[in-house]
Amino acid sequence: REQTDPVLQLENINVNFDGFQALTNLTLNIGVGELRCVIGPNGAGKTTLMDVITGKTRPQSGRAIYDQSSDLTSLDPITIAQKGIGRKFQKPTVFEALTVFENLEIAQKGDKSVWASLRAKLGCEQRDRIDAMLATLRLGAERGRQAGALSHGQKQFLEIGMLLIQDPHLLLLDEPAAGMTDAETEYTAELFRELAGKHSLMVVEHDMGFVETIADRVTVLHQGQVLAEGSLKEVQQNEQVIEVYLGR
Ligand code: ADP
Repeated sequence: REQTDPVLQLENINVNFDGFQALTNLTLNIGVGELRCVIGPNGAGKTTLMDVITGKTRPQSGRAIYDQSSDLTSLDPITIAQKGIGRKFQKPTVFEALTVFENLEIAQKGDKSVWASLRAKLGCEQRDRIDAMLATLRLGAERGRQAGALSHGQKQFLEIGMLLIQDPHLLLLDEPAAGMTDAETEYTAELFRELAGKHSLMVVEHDMGFVETIADRVTVLHQGQVLAEGSLKEVQQNEQVIEVYLGR
C-alpha cells in the first residue's frame, strides 16, 4: 500500500492522570484510507489514545492534527464528531426498544432530538440508503425487528452501520469483533477491508488472527509509548515487542 496524506498526526502527546503518565510523547500518523491496528497489553494506553482523539481527554501537551488542518486537542467531543470522526466502544450500544431500521434512521439524522427525528418523514433516497446499509450489514431480514432481540454480533454490526451511515472520515473501533462468532468475525474483516480506502480506520484489537487479516499497519503501545510500528510480521519480530508483549 503506497503512502498517502495523513488523516491524523499525533505529535508528542502527553497525558497525565494525577501523577500517572498514561501517554508519553506519543507520536503516530495515520494515512488517508489506511486501516491501522493498535495493539498492546492492558493498561498500555489504547483507550486513552482514543479518548484524546475524540476529545474526551485533553492531553497536557502535544497536538492531534486532523485532515492537515484542525488540532483536535483544542476541540470539544461534539465538534470532533461533527468533523467526521466516529467511535465505537467495545460493548454494543444500540437503542434496544427500537427496530433495526429505526436505529439506522436516528443515526442518519444525527441530531439530538431523537423522537422528533423518529416522527419526521424520511425521503425515499434516505430510506434506500438505510436499506442498502442493512444489506451491507447482512441485517436485511431483521429490518423491522427490535434491536434488543438481535444477537450480540448483529448488534455490533448494527452499531457499525450507525456509524457508517453518518459517512465518517475516520473511524475508531475498540475490539469490534469481540464476542462475535467465527463467521461474523470473518465478515467483519471483509467489511473493514472494503471500508479501508474510502474511510480511515483505527482498530484496537487483541485477536491477532483478526489483526493479520485486516491491518495495513500495526502500532504496538506499551506503557503509554509507541514500542514498534510496521506490518504485523515486522512488529512480531521486534525484540522489544517479543520481550514485553508477545513473548509471555
Ligand atoms: P488500555 O486501553 O491499553 O488498556 P488505558 O488507556 O485504559 O489502557 O489506560 C492506560 C493507563 O492509564 C492505565 O494504567 C490506567 O489505569 C490509567 N488510566 C486511564 N484512565 C485513567 C483515569 N481517568 N485516571 C487515572 N488513571 C487512568
